[in-house]
Amino acid sequence: MFETLSDRLTSVFSSLRSKGRLSDADIDATCREIRIALLEADVALPVVKTFVAQVKERARGAEVSQALNPAQQVVKIVNDELIEILGGETRRLRYAKTPPTVIMLAGLQGAGKTTLAGKLARWLREQNHTPLLVAADLQRPNAVQQLSVVAERAGVAVYAPEPGNGVGDPIAVARQSIDHARRQQHDVVIIDTAGRLGIDQELMKQAADIRDAVTPDEVLFVVDAMIGQDAVSTAQAFMDGVGFDGVVLTKLDGDARGGAALSVRHITGKPIMFASTGEKLEDFDAFHPDRMASRILD
Ligand code: GDP
Repeated sequence: MFETLSDRLTSVFSSLRSKGRLSDADIDATCREIRIALLEADVALPVVKTFVAQVKERARGAEVSQALNPAQQVVKIVNDELIEILGGETRRLRYAKTPPTVIMLAGLQGAGKTTLAGKLARWLREQNHTPLLVAADLQRPNAVQQLSVVAERAGVAVYAPEPGNGVGDPIAVARQSIDHARRQQHDVVIIDTAGRLGIDQELMKQAADIRDAVTPDEVLFVVDAMIGQDAVSTAQAFMDGVGFDGVVLTKLDGDARGGAALSVRHITGKPIMFASTGEKLEDFDAFHPDRMASRILD
């Protein structure tokens, strides 16, 4: 991801290298090129506008620097603004004062929620937590089975409906799982909820009902970075329908142009907290805006 954007930005910067000082016209031309590069990378228009305006303002106000030539100065400004648009600081998970910490996952089917549940569980286990995965996706016939497989690979326990014990009722399953976690001393509960292929009112209501039933410490919106501009409308629909505290970007290893990744923070105002970069459970980490910016400008 981001190869095209990286290449375009590199060529914008290299055209500045011969300049001794940047005129306003140089800055305007550079900003036009940056704007095109971002639009071509599928970054949402409001984000592009904010970004370019910031870069322009800072580039015009930049002092003549002994340490940095104009090209380096522009690179630094773009780097800073990329970090800003990606959220600035890494936002860490908030743990409940009294365990268990309840994390609910929401997103469209195919976004990578179930895989993510396993990745997050594995990641938490490595930090000496004792997560419990909860199968509250009862729409897809094999979802419970899929989560059980993922849990086994992650080496963590799974809570799934037993016959006669809330079968078909994801809200009851989610609620019961919290008591189960308390009894079994799991300090984090990760609830996998159902997704549909598109935005669906019934699905939104179910997710909102689960949220109301378990009052999660974190609702994480899981979004496939490969879906480009659609990520923005999907995020907005989930914001309105369920609400969430943080975003998880999946499939950052794909060859999409990366616009979703650059847009979602600015559009939703919610931090990107984790990133998934492959199908394996270890292809996952906390999201670091500064590292992502460096990758783009590499
Ligand atoms: P869910 O419907 O939201 O639960 O999505 P799944 O977890 O079943 O994932 C859908 C597909 O995406 C599966 O084939 C996963 O292996 C794949 N997948 C999930 N995360 C990633 C990722 O970060 N990178 C890649 N390349 N594939 C992923």
